[in-house]
Amino acid sequence: MKGRPEYDAVVVGGGPAGSTAACLLGEAGHRVVLLEKRTYPRDKVCGGCLSQKTVRFLDRVFSLPVDALRQEGLLDFTGTGYALYIGSRRILAEDLAEPVYFTRRERYDTYLAGRAAQAGVEVHTGAEAAEIDHARRTVTTSDGDRYAARVLIGADGVHSRVRRSLPESVVDMKRWHENLGWTLELSIPAKRRKRSQTMTDRSAWTTASRRPTWSLPPAGGATGGSSRTGRRSSWG
Ligand SMILES: Cc1cc2nc3c(=O)[nH]c(=O)nc-3n(C[C@H](O)[C@H](O)[C@H](O)COP(=O)(O)OP(=O)(O)OC[C@H]3O[C@@H](n4cnc5c(N)ncnc54)[C@H](O)[C@@H]3O)c2cc1C
Repeated sequence: MKGRPEYDAVVVGGGPAGSTAACLLGEAGHRVVLLEKRTYPRDKVCGGCLSQKTVRFLDRVFSLPVDALRQEGLLDFTGTGYALYIGSRRILAEDLAEPVYFTRRERYDTYLAGRAAQAGVEVHTGAEAAEIDHARRTVTTSDGDRYAARVLIGADGVHSRVRRSLPESVVDMKRWHENLGWTLELSIPAKRRKRSQTMTDRSAWTTASRRPTWSLPPAGGATGGSSRTGRRSSWG
C-alpha cells in the first residue's frame, strides 16, 4: 500500500456535489483530495436541466451568471415551456414563468472538477474508493493508494461506496434498496424526432408504457429516457 500525507478532507466522487464541496474547501485554504473513479469527460444519466435555483447557486458559489455559463460552453439550450403527454395525447402545454437551462453532464462535470483543481484541490481520476476505514480515517483505492483525512465527504452518487461503509444503525439499507430504480437514456437525432415542433422549446413528459418518460432538448437533438423508480421515488 502506498501511503500519502494526511489531508484535511478526502472527497469521494467528482460529480457536481463532490467537485463543489472540494472547490469550496480548497478556496478556504484546506488541503483536499478529490477521488473520482472515472476519467473526465464522463457522462451521467441525467436530463441536464439547470433550474433557476441551480443557476442562482452557480452564480453565488462559482460567480457564474447565465452569460458566463454560456461563454464557458456549458449551456446548450434554454427552455421556455413544457408539455405533458399521456401516450401520444398532449394534455398540457404551458409556458414557464422563468426559463430553465440545459447542460451536458460530460462538459458540466468536467468544468466543475476543473474549478476544484484551480482552487488547489488534488483531483485524482481513475481513483475508485474501494475500502473505507472509519476508525483510521482512511480511504483506499482499488489501486492500493491510501488517503488519510480528518474529514471524509461521500459524494459518490446513488450506489455510494461511502454510504455502504456506514453501519446499519446509520443507513437503512432496506429502504435504500427499495428506493433504487432504473433508467434508460438514449439520444434522438433532431431529424428523427416526431414531435420536433413541440420539442424545440419544451421539455416533454409522457406516461407511455406506464413509466414516466421524458424528452429534453439539448442542441441538435434530444435525449429521451424512461425510468422506473422504487416505491418511494427520488432522483438519483
Ligand atoms: C434519469 C435522471 C434524470 C435526471 N435529470 C436531472 C435534471 O434534469 N436536472 C437535475 O438537476 N438533476 C437531474 N437528475 C439528478 C442528478 O443527476 C443528480 O442529482 C446528480 O447527478 C447528483 O450529483 P452528485 O454529484 O451527488 O452525484 P453524481 O453526479 O452521481 O456523481 C457521483 C460521482 O461519484 C463517482 N463515483 C462513484 N463511486 C465512486 C467510488 N467508489 N470512488 C470514486 N468515485 C466514485 C462517479 O463516477 C460520479 O462521477 C437526474 C437523475 C436521473 C437518474
